[in-house]
Amino acid sequence: MDFAQIKELKDKIFEGYQINEEEALALSQTRNIEALYYSANQIRAKMKGRVFEMCSAIRVESAKCHHNCEWCAFSQKSNVPIKEYNIIDEQTAVDYAIKFASKKVRRVSLISTSNDITDHKLTQIIELSKKIADKSGLKICATLGHLTIEQLKRLKEESNITTFQCNLQTSPELYQKLCTSCSYKKKLETIENARKIGFNVCCGLIIGMGESMKDRIQVAIKIRELGVKSIPIHILSPQDGVGITPPKPLDSEEILTTIAVFRFINPRADIRLGGGRSLIKIIESEALRAGINSWSVDGTIQTGKGISIDESANRLEKEGFII
Ligand code: SF4
Repeated sequence: MDFAQIKELKDKIFEGYQINEEEALALSQTRNIEALYYSANQIRAKMKGRVFEMCSAIRVESAKCHHNCEWCAFSQKSNVPIKEYNIIDEQTAVDYAIKFASKKVRRVSLISTSNDITDHKLTQIIELSKKIADKSGLKICATLGHLTIEQLKRLKEESNITTFQCNLQTSPELYQKLCTSCSYKKKLETIENARKIGFNVCCGLIIGMGESMKDRIQVAIKIRELGVKSIPIHILSPQDGVGITPPKPLDSEEILTTIAVFRFINPRADIRLGGGRSLIKIIESEALRAGINSWSVDGTIQTGKGISIDESANRLEKEGFII
């Protein structure tokens, strides 16, 4: 795809056009890579303005999960040492949230890694969400695995959580190879249920697990069909002890191209650069010019090296974003 074709596609998107898989693939194969990033950034500017959201996470429950996802440190297959605890102490969670808010973080996700949310734990998480919202003013998301429809309804009615996160992670074909204990169908059902009940849905993927660009594009289109408003893109970090060995580290160009193509496919969504970016810091400032309008900052979830919130905020302000 040449410069004029990229620009034409971008102009059509401004008028409401949704690009198809073939066009997205052609975009990803362009030799005019700078034109692709430039246009993706123009779409971001038109649809999202200069506002940039830093989000973070509090691991409200830390435990081994009964699923066997190859990429995950909390998986039953992983040998990564995990600090285990039941539902986090309320004051500790509130202190984290207040610290985040003081550093211009606007949103926090309450994460449980157990994939085993009993009704009692749900009650505790609902209470935590109210306290955190009250004391910090942060917007609150939840990543709690596959809740039942009744649990999702309770969460919607009783908590201060407005966004429910459930990542597709990768293409259906690759997912089947990397996780045999949970189905893609279950994920899609959870997302549909959360959306029907009235949650905003946050749903993204991990790149660098051996998927093709076509796989990523299909995930991006599926996410669009699901009406998702927030898309985290995580980059697989090599980590001792987890099942998967990254087949080949992704180079910067492939990561930036993925981000730009996601922006073309999901022009109005919040596209968030998530985990893994600490290993490739150079990507951060480049990613700001390829279409992202959010990124996650050091929370309590990381099992590796986090990135300082102040460092992130300074970089964004230098680039002219409003945080
Ligand atoms: S379901 Fe989530 S927490 Fe459990 S192993 Fe998979 S990625 Fe990890």
